[in-house]
Amino acid sequence: MAAQIINGKEIAAQIRSELKERVDRLASEGRRPGLAVVLVGDNPASAVYVRMKKKACQEIGIYSEEHRLPSTISQGELLALVDQLNADPKIHGILVQLPLPKGLDEEEVINRIDPRKDVDGFHPVNVGKLSIGLPAFVPCTPAGVLELVKRTGTTIAGKKVVVLGRSNIVGKPAAMLFLRENATVTICHSRTVNVKDECAQGDILVVAVGQPQLVKGDWVKPGAVVIDVGINRVDGQIVGDVDFSEVKEVAGAITPVPGGVGPMTIAMLMKNTVDVADVK
Ligand code: NAD
Repeated sequence: MAAQIINGKEIAAQIRSELKERVDRLASEGRRPGLAVVLVGDNPASAVYVRMKKKACQEIGIYSEEHRLPSTISQGELLALVDQLNADPKIHGILVQLPLPKGLDEEEVINRIDPRKDVDGFHPVNVGKLSIGLPAFVPCTPAGVLELVKRTGTTIAGKKVVVLGRSNIVGKPAAMLFLRENATVTICHSRTVNVKDECAQGDILVVAVGQPQLVKGDWVKPGAVVIDVGINRVDGQIVGDVDFSEVKEVAGAITPVPGGVGPMTIAMLMKNTVDVADVK
């Protein structure tokens, strides 16, 4: 039987509508959430992401500010902007769009963001809190992955979760999140021996490698939930890291690309921002 297709677009729209209700209530109490997005230079992909984030803020009613800066800006000027946003009570979340142009020190910029406004979840304080099980901002893409799995109704505790990819923004935090949900987690990467056999153990398989259609039908345990984080451009088409046409015949549920994890990333960014404003 072909797999259930997990509709990330629809789930993300539902999350945005739930958030809109919370924002309306917060705004009526004079606590409208605010997000500041900082975009340095003219990376076209970054500009697209920033536009999508701004549009989502408008839809939900989050106040948003965009700070566009030339790639010639100095490290000191960028840090001064972060300081200013850290101190601004209208701003609950700060997002510095990565990658930064060459010559700017990303790590220093991320470390300068107040961890309480770090809605991307990249600050070492939030990374550390996630790993020791304290409440923390969780990076938006893995948070979206977990939400998608939960909304399929799958029980996570006790399941074998295989995460393919160990990046700081997707693979590692995804593994930590599933561990927090009491799954048994395996992390695979480019040096893993027998990746295919490892993947085939997963009741839940999360793939974030950036390799078009790497995961084939015989890499997947029959009935598994497969979440494809990959976004790859091949011959003008967007494809995932999973061979969708093969794997959908084996998996129990699968996300498409596009329309799976992608829309969830922005929805979770909105959620993180609303959560900051919504503290009693
Ligand atoms: P990355 O390049 O930082 O990390 C890739 C990881 O995959 C590494 O840990 C590497 O060891 C592993 N890897 C590479 N080839 C492998 C192989 N053949 N077998 C096993 N492991 C292998 O990538 P990333 O930033 O984590 O992104 C991964 C993919 O997810 C990309 O396609 C990216 O565009 C996409 N992405 C999507 C979203 C979204 O919102 N949907 C967000 C972030 C990233």
